[in-house]
Amino acid sequence: MKIAQIAPPWITVPPAGYGGTEWVVQQLCDGLSDRGHEVTLFASGDSHTRATLRSVFPKQQPEVMGQTAFDARHVAFALAEIEAAGDFDLIHDHSGFLVIAFRRLFGRAVDRPVLHTIHCAFDAAAYGFYEQFKGAVSYNAISEYQRSQGPAGMNWAGVVYNALALEQWQYTPDKEDYLLAFGRVCEAKGFHLAIEVARRAGSKLVMAGVVQDQYADYFHERVEPHIDGRQVVYEGEVTNERKRELFAHARGFLFPILWPEPFGLVMIEAMATGTPVIALRQGSVPEVVEHGRTGFVVNGVDEMVAAVARLPEIDPRACRRSVEERFTVARMCDDYEALYRRLVG
Ligand code: UDP
Repeated sequence: MKIAQIAPPWITVPPAGYGGTEWVVQQLCDGLSDRGHEVTLFASGDSHTRATLRSVFPKQQPEVMGQTAFDARHVAFALAEIEAAGDFDLIHDHSGFLVIAFRRLFGRAVDRPVLHTIHCAFDAAAYGFYEQFKGAVSYNAISEYQRSQGPAGMNWAGVVYNALALEQWQYTPDKEDYLLAFGRVCEAKGFHLAIEVARRAGSKLVMAGVVQDQYADYFHERVEPHIDGRQVVYEGEVTNERKRELFAHARGFLFPILWPEPFGLVMIEAMATGTPVIALRQGSVPEVVEHGRTGFVVNGVDEMVAAVARLPEIDPRACRRSVEERFTVARMCDDYEALYRRLVG
């Protein structure tokens, strides 16, 4: 098949630091290209892919994330190229809202099936948007939970779980004596709760992850005052290499989220290295973590503290195996290929 993949324009594919969608797009493009599909990826010009890369912006620009003046140029460029080529079988869109909003206005040359993977949660703004455009394209959810939160009557094509490249995540059964909290440092990801849990459990906590501008106050008020460099450590935004080391050596990954996580890549990153996850029951968590096998799905801070004491019950091999069984790039590509075939007909 000849497939156009439209990534968001803000962050390199794959990302050097923060970026969930961009990892998924990278693995999907490489996986589909290896299977012989002709894939064109529209993304920032400093991306690396085995697909053909096309870009209007030479470099990533996370500092203007969400500004329509950039988004619109990226999407208009992609659609113009797709129209000029005239022979794409399918458009798989991972970018924001523009492709969907203007789908009905595409010229006939771009009259191809459009699959849009929803990578975000259904907050009030997103819900209103998808309600208005529920039939404009075919939609894919990244968890059953996410799909259940959409407006009635959405044109769902399926649910395809995200994945990771297992070979990048070293299985490490020998752990060191710290708990890990990792991701965007913000209230929704519950870093302040991770600190409380680690303290009450008498454990060292290592935290790492980007502090985006809009969450600077949260960091300064709720996280930073607790950092002492011994029991509570914060390493900032780290390289991919350091990230993988941190996951691999942690005795447990804390995920005390306070929002309806649509998937939560960090959970499978932990599990791939053999590190169990202790997570609050929110969003996709019960689908990703098998309670008692790959970690603990709990209902509050007290239960989270109690679960830390039960970490030795979890076999690191079971964590790794769960990713091998459910979250490989091959499985994700199989699932998307099946959807594409159905849509292309
Ligand atoms: N990530 C990273 N550096 C950071 C923060 C996050 O590399 O400072 C990565 C993280 O490992 C994961 C992705 O970005 O691969 C975030 O995806 P996830 O689904 O966990 O959460 P999101 O932030 O998209 O809600």
